[in-house]
Amino acid sequence: MPAPGFAVLADLAENFGDGDIHFTSRGNVQIRGISHVGAFADAAEEEKLVPSPAHDRVRNIIQSPLTGRVGGKADVSDLVQDFDAALIAQPSLATLPGRTLIAFDDGRGDVLGERPDVGVVAHDDDTFELILGGTTSGLVVSRDAVVDALIATALTWNDTRGSAWRIAEAGAAEELRAAVAEKLGERADLRDPTPDHEFDATAGLSKQIGWIDQPDGRVSLAAGLRFGVLPGRLARAIAHTQVPVHITPWYSLILHDLDEEVAEQVVKVMAPNGLIFDRKSTWLRVTACTGRPGCQKSLADTRGDASHAIAQGRLPEGRIHFSGCERRCGKPKGGYIDYLATGDGEYEVTSVD
Ligand code: SF4
Repeated sequence: MPAPGFAVLADLAENFGDGDIHFTSRGNVQIRGISHVGAFADAAEEEKLVPSPAHDRVRNIIQSPLTGRVGGKADVSDLVQDFDAALIAQPSLATLPGRTLIAFDDGRGDVLGERPDVGVVAHDDDTFELILGGTTSGLVVSRDAVVDALIATALTWNDTRGSAWRIAEAGAAEELRAAVAEKLGERADLRDPTPDHEFDATAGLSKQIGWIDQPDGRVSLAAGLRFGVLPGRLARAIAHTQVPVHITPWYSLILHDLDEEVAEQVVKVMAPNGLIFDRKSTWLRVTACTGRPGCQKSLADTRGDASHAIAQGRLPEGRIHFSGCERRCGKPKGGYIDYLATGDGEYEVTSVD
C-alpha cells in the first residue's frame, strides 16, 4: 500500500472504529468496534478499498514483502497484481471459502512458511512450483503460465471441494495436482516436490525486522507492532513518509525505498512511539488474542497480562501465545508455549509442538 493509504485507514479507524488498525496473521488489516456499519462501508468504497465487493473476502493474497528489492530468486509483485485481476474477473471464484490463503513466495520461503492453500514458490525468475495445501506440489510452470495455473487450481478446487474449506484438511492436493496438470498440458512439468528444508523456515519475521539495506543504496525498514496494533496517530506518521509499504502476516510492516537520512529519522521518531525495530525484542515473540475487554468469551485481559509479564521479564524463551479461551485466536503456526486463561490473571501453561 502506498504510505498515504495509512492516513485513510487512520481516518476509518478513528471515525468509525476503536481508533486502532489491527493487523492479522494473514496479512489483513481490521478496523474493529464499528458502530455505523453502513457509513463505514460507504467510506471504504469511496476510498476505493474494495475493488470487487463480491470477491473481497477471498482476496487473501500474500507475497514475499521484500520481493524485487532485497534477496529472493524472482520478483513476484507483477504476478500478484495479474492474479488479483484474474481472480476478480472470475465470478464463480467469489464463492471460494473466505479462509483460503493464496501466496506468492519469491523463493526465500517466507510466505511458504505460512502454509498457504494455493500459491507458487520461485526457483528462479522463470520457474515456479505450485503450492497446494501448504506445501510444494512438484508441478512446475514458467512465469507466463503462473496466473493460468493458479486460476485453474482455484476453479478446480471450488468445483470439487463440496463442503471442505481447506485443501490440506480435505487431503485433496494430489488430486488437484493431477487435474491442474491435465488442464495445463504441455505448459506444466511434473517433478518430485521440492523438500521443505530447501526453503528457509525462518525467513519471515525473525529476519525481516529493523534496518535492511537495499542494493540500490536505499533502505527498507521493517517494524513489528505490539500485538499487531497500529494506533491511528502512528498510521498518520507512516503516511507522511510517502513511500511504498507492505503489511506482513507477522504483525509487522515494511517501509521501502527510504533514503538513509530519512530512515534514521523514522527510527528516531517511531521507535519511542512503540514500533519495534530490534530483532531481539521480546514483543516480537509474544502474541495474544484480543481478550478482555474486547472479547466477551475471554476469561482474562490477555494483552494486559502478556504486557505485564514482558515488562517483568518473566517469560520463557521461544514463541508464546496468550489466549482468553480455548479457541486460541491468532495462535502461531508451528511450536509455541501456550498460555490459556483459566481465570482472571490465571493461566495454564503448556508446550505445543
Ligand atoms: S481466543 Fe477466545 S477469548 Fe481470545 S479472542 Fe478468540 S474467542 Fe475471544
